[in-house]
Amino acid sequence: MFDLPDLERFVELRPGLFRCTIIWPVAIGVQVPVATFLIRGDSLDQGADPAHDWILIDSGAPMQVERLLAAIDAVLTHEKDTLRYVCITHGHIDHTGAVPALLEKYPQSKVVIHKEEKPYVCDGRSFRSVTSDTWTFTLLKHFSHEAEVQFPPDRTVTLCEGDEWEFEHVLKFVETPGHTPGSASYIHIPTRSIMVGDAVMNIAANPMWSKIPCISGPLAMSTCHWGNAMKAIDKILTFRDKVDTVFPAHDYSADGVHIDKVHEFHKPSNL
Ligand SMILES: [Zn+2]
Repeated sequence: MFDLPDLERFVELRPGLFRCTIIWPVAIGVQVPVATFLIRGDSLDQGADPAHDWILIDSGAPMQVERLLAAIDAVLTHEKDTLRYVCITHGHIDHTGAVPALLEKYPQSKVVIHKEEKPYVCDGRSFRSVTSDTWTFTLLKHFSHEAEVQFPPDRTVTLCEGDEWEFEHVLKFVETPGHTPGSASYIHIPTRSIMVGDAVMNIAANPMWSKIPCISGPLAMSTCHWGNAMKAIDKILTFRDKVDTVFPAHDYSADGVHIDKVHEFHKPSNL
């Protein structure tokens, strides 16, 4: 049923861009694919088999930590390979689960997050405290995920769009708030790909009885501000001259979604 090539292992979908998908049993009969991405950064020496710096984008759900760490071990095989950053799209638990284990395992690593997300992942603020523009979130927010995984502030790098950071030549940080106040996306410049977290999803319309992927916006019940979430998709579409492939964090496709397909799903009013 889940015939993804990258089930529980990282597969190089584009040069230097790897994806690993682990199925998350959210509730009885409801399974959601959760993707994480490894980016191969600069080589550290000139040899035939150089070591590299690596960056992870998102870190799965807490129950997936062991499988994710094993999948990372299978790629970072050079003794000097090291994970330098864990770039988080937003603070929900299916994206932050392995952060504590990764910070412990890779003492040089740091977490990158949008400045607006910091109160939720470092200071214990609840997403439920956000004033929403929809009744769906207002009514159902108590069933949605919180930022239960907290990051140590001294290992957390907060960014705003345009800020300089160490790997900006490889990964461009883009603010796409809406699903949460500090949701962010990351453009992998060399492969014209964008990792959007939950700004766009590509899972079954009804995961109870279908596995046919279908493009949608984020899950309404856990989306803090629906109007901004739609503006975030508008913004992602403005990168059509720089981006070919959109990689949602929840995606049943083997190879991401072409940005034209996202445009067909959601035509911005101002373009
Ligand atoms: Zn999610």
